[in-house]
Order: sequence, then structure tokens, then C-alpha cells
Amino acid sequence: MSIYESLGVPVIINAKGPSTRVSGGFLAPEVTAAMAEAGRACVDMAELQAAASRVIAGITGAEAGIVTSGAAAGLLLSTAACVAGLHPAHMARLPDTTGLKNEVIMVRSQRNFYDHAVRGAGVSIVEVGLPDRFSGAGVRDAEPWEIDAAITERTAAVVYVATPNSRPTLEEVVHTAHARGVPVIVDAAAQLPPATNLRHFISLGADLVAFSGGKALGGPQGSGILCGRRDLIMSAILQNLDLDVEWSQWTPPASLIDKHRLAGLPPHGIGRTCKVGKETIVGLVVALQRYVAVTDDARRLLWLATVERLAAGLSELRQATAQVRDGLVPKLTLTLNGLNARDVCLQLQNGRPSIQVDPSQADQGVLLINPTCLAESDLDLLVDRLRQVLG
Ligand SMILES: *Cc1c(COP(=O)(O)O)cnc(C)c1O
Repeated sequence: MSIYESLGVPVIINAKGPSTRVSGGFLAPEVTAAMAEAGRACVDMAELQAAASRVIAGITGAEAGIVTSGAAAGLLLSTAACVAGLHPAHMARLPDTTGLKNEVIMVRSQRNFYDHAVRGAGVSIVEVGLPDRFSGAGVRDAEPWEIDAAITERTAAVVYVATPNSRPTLEEVVHTAHARGVPVIVDAAAQLPPATNLRHFISLGADLVAFSGGKALGGPQGSGILCGRRDLIMSAILQNLDLDVEWSQWTPPASLIDKHRLAGLPPHGIGRTCKVGKETIVGLVVALQRYVAVTDDARRLLWLATVERLAAGLSELRQATAQVRDGLVPKLTLTLNGLNARDVCLQLQNGRPSIQVDPSQADQGVLLINPTCLAESDLDLLVDRLRQVLG
């Protein structure tokens, strides 16, 4: 009996991709083996994060990095780092930011559900720009001068949500913010592939970059990477680690935490709530090393073969047209004919096995099949079920 059977939890077919709600994706056997091994010994957590930092720095080009419990945790820790710096007293006060730098600037069109993690550090978000291009009224979005005009002595950071469509460009935002001495935090949670993005945002001058470990990277579902400037990473990890130790006994690795820069040891910080376990750190490090050992194109070809196999099985549907859409992540598009896309999603979800597809284009009558979280054994079941529902 599987662990999920013994718990009475049905296993689903995940054709949506590595979303949190449907439990991310799969762990490679090398990742699960490393996690199991990590669970069989004890280590100093700061030493383990310092080792992770060396790997993350090597792969991202950043000065330092840590494993977080997800990209959202990375946003909370980033904001806390930009507000508190290396002051133990400021760390101890969060989320009370009275008298501290307690504003974060965001472009209005980049606001999203995850920025709750930013506000969780005790800052308020100052929105700039009118997303005119999204209303159909025009072509413009926020511009660098609007970010510049919003910067005051209370500005802790600019938070930038990276997508290929984000405006202004990251170069412009970094240029504007750095001219006023303000750090830039990049939410790059879902910006993989391409694997080159692991270095890209850092190379453009971002001060902190958060990636999700449980999405494309194939790390533990509750994991992420935060990389960037050494002093900010030091502040972030100080506000994340368990600090139940006497100052005299505390000997953190200087490569991650330079004890001499601190006036004292803060109590557990605001990020202690998003604790990261040793199994998670080890699992993420192994997943990250595996990710960069394979090219984007090799991954693409495997997924393309999956999508083509699905397309071959779905060539004669009455109520949908199946088409292969190639790209960094090839997908199968199902263009419905005469059916409501949301009804079809619900029908697939309520069947046995339950199937989740990507509904992000449901308004256009299109459902997407994402191959990245499909097991070999899912494919025939998926084709059979889609043929039943779509004729
Ligand atoms: C998924 C996502 C997050 C959250 O990532 P987790 O690793 O699940 O915490 C944050 N921001 C964006 C844009 C995302 O897509």
C-alpha cells in the first residue's frame, strides 16, 4: 500500500505543472536519497547553510545564498533584511517598523498574491505607475522616473517581479534604485527555465533574488533559494536561524555570518517561522546541482516527446483540437469546441483518477497540458480520460 493510500488521500494526475496547490512535481531518486541520508545525522545548521551558500553562489554568481522554505519565504526574509540590516535591535522589533525604513516600492502592474510575504515583514507597499497597457487604453506602464519620485528616506527596497513582460526593465529599475542607495529585491520564483536566469538577475545588479525550489528546480516542495549581496544574505539568515545559544558559545561560519559585524545576538527573528530543515537544504542543493547539469534543450526534448505522444492519442476528438505548442516547456493545447473550459476542468477534476490541467487560458476556450509533472504511467490514463470527456 502506498503512503497516500494508507492516509486515504487520492493521488491525482498533475497536468497543470509544479503548482503549490497540486503539490509541485516529483523528486528525482538522487534527491530523495540525499534527503533520507541527511535525516540520519545531525549537523550545525549555520554550517549547513554556509555549505549551501557556496554551492548557490557558484551557480548563481551571487556573493552568497541560502536555502529558504520557498520563494515566498525568500521575499519575507529579503524585506526583513533590507529593513533591519545588521542591527540586532531592529531585527528583534519586526514586524514593528516604527521609525525604521518601512516602505517598499512596487510597480502597480506587478502586485500579486505573493506580496503578502513582503508586507509580512511590517512594511507598507507604495505602488507606482498606471498599467495603461493592460486596460487596452494605451501602451505604457510604470516608468523609472515614477520609481525615483516615490523614493524617500523611508524606502527600504524596490520589489521587482520578474517576467519577460515586466516593465520598466530590471536594468532601468536597478539603475534608478541604486542611484538613490536603495536595494532591489527580485521575485524570480517561477522564472526557470531558462537555467541562465539563475545568473541573469544577479548579473543585472539585483541585490537579492528569490527562486522557488519546488517548481522547475525539482527540489523539495517547500524549498527555495535566496541569493544576493553578502550583507543582506547575512541579515536574512540571522532572521531565519534558530539563535537559542549564548554569544560566547556561538561560532557561526564567517563566510555566511561575520560575527564581528554584530553588536550582539538577536533573539529568534521574524523568519524563524519559515524554518528550513536539514533534509530540505540537502535536497535543494542536490536538485540545483542536477538542474544545471542538464541543458534546457535536453529537458525540452523529453517533454516534447511526452506532448507528442499525448497529441497522437488525441488526434480525433470531436469537441476539441489538440495541438503541440513547442517552447522552453512544450505544452499540449486543447482548443475546445462547443464546451465550457471551466466545466471541462471540473469534470476532469471530479473524475477518477482526478486530473488537473492548466486553466490559465480558459477564458479563450483553451486548456493546457503541462508535461513536467506527468509520470510515464499517467499518460495512457490521461489520454483515455480526455477522450471520454472530449469525445
Ligand atoms: C510560486 C510563486 C511564488 C511563491 O513561491 P513558493 O516557492 O511557493 O513560496 C512567489 N512569486 C511568484 C511570482 C510565484 O510564481
